[in-house]
Amino acid sequence: MTIYEADWICPVAAPSIRRGAIAVDGGRLRDVGPAESIQHIGGARRVRFPGCAIIPGFVNAHAHLELTVLRGFLENRSFMDWILGLVQAKYQFLQYDAMRTSAEFGALEMLRAGVTAVGEVMDLGMSWDAMREFGLQGVAYQEVFGPADSVASESLAGLRTKVDRLRRDETETLRIGASPHAPFTVSKTLYEATRDFARSNRLPMTAHIAESRDELLLVRDGAGPFAEGQRNRGIEVTPRHCTPVTYLDALDLLGPDMLLIHVIEIDDQDLDRLQNSGVFVVHCPKSNAKLGHRTARVSEMQERGVTVALGTDSMASNNSVDMFEEMRAAVFHQRMLTGRIQALDAARAFRMATIDGAKCLGLEDHIGSLTPGKRADFVVIDLSGVSTQPVYDPIETMVYSAARGDVKATFLAGREVDLDDSELLKQAAAIRERLLGAV
Ligand SMILES: [Zn+2]
Repeated sequence: MTIYEADWICPVAAPSIRRGAIAVDGGRLRDVGPAESIQHIGGARRVRFPGCAIIPGFVNAHAHLELTVLRGFLENRSFMDWILGLVQAKYQFLQYDAMRTSAEFGALEMLRAGVTAVGEVMDLGMSWDAMREFGLQGVAYQEVFGPADSVASESLAGLRTKVDRLRRDETETLRIGASPHAPFTVSKTLYEATRDFARSNRLPMTAHIAESRDELLLVRDGAGPFAEGQRNRGIEVTPRHCTPVTYLDALDLLGPDMLLIHVIEIDDQDLDRLQNSGVFVVHCPKSNAKLGHRTARVSEMQERGVTVALGTDSMASNNSVDMFEEMRAAVFHQRMLTGRIQALDAARAFRMATIDGAKCLGLEDHIGSLTPGKRADFVVIDLSGVSTQPVYDPIETMVYSAARGDVKATFLAGREVDLDDSELLKQAAAIRERLLGAV
């Protein structure tokens, strides 16, 4: 048994505790409360973190670890050009070995930033190995692509093979899911096949949807750059005469087993669809802003009872893992969008980055709050510096003033993470040379 004391304990599921402590044993939280009340017989070790807050590990509900080394490689492109550049870099220049390095690099970065669980969307499956190696928890969703109806059965067969292999190593808090990528890369037939495969195998799903105006044009009108691109490749484009979210609803893809990513280009009826279906949403405010997309109507979704998590998306579009920045951006964007101070507050943003993320991944019984019985995945945030003092409310301070550099320690199942980055930094530099030589 070890007892960790700090100036603040922020359990999320309960009010923050001044001069609190958590007791950890066997990788699980045993007790959470005021420091003087956490007294255990039998000489438990006591570790003190003066000037710090202890919080649950952040849940980053949307990421692509495999793309980490593309940080800074695809700047100032239109969304379509950005996607094309990404696909080319992935398949022509990176391939398996560099993607593995990239995923490991990303996993290390997550842990350094206080993220202990991710909603990871992976293509080549390298992220799964990296998550297991580094101890990151969460759901790794295997992507599936195929814009032409004719390749749907082949794409599904690939998905089935990958999932069957990966699922052998699943644990209670490290799960496999499936992800039909996006309307511009997935045909109607493949959406339906993936849905049936996921439901019959009890796999959670996640899907990029309603991210851009170009995607809306493709789905609704069969027009715009994505439609042109498909026609140029000989793929038939069918206008659906509805929004992307309505399209997914018509395909029976909205439900409690689906985590929708982005959900920006929606109408008022789509808000009803989100509310009535029990679907989950992950919001990526910084990535959306950087790619020149709009921001999601998060506060309206939350007012309707939709659970919305926070995600960084990949380093090719963010370019940093900093959940403090994401929380800040989420609050600021909602207040700008609505003109209302009440649209989103720090406490809600903090829940989005922790317990709501865990709910979106279906893991809220195990992670996402400092609750006795849950895994001891927690983070120590140093609030003693000049950029965070004085502290009146630790959550307000963390959301509005803190940064990933204030993460003092990350614990996974009660063990402090201690990672050496020297080899990965060397490998990332070599990949940079390969990418620069290739373009
Ligand atoms: Zn994404």
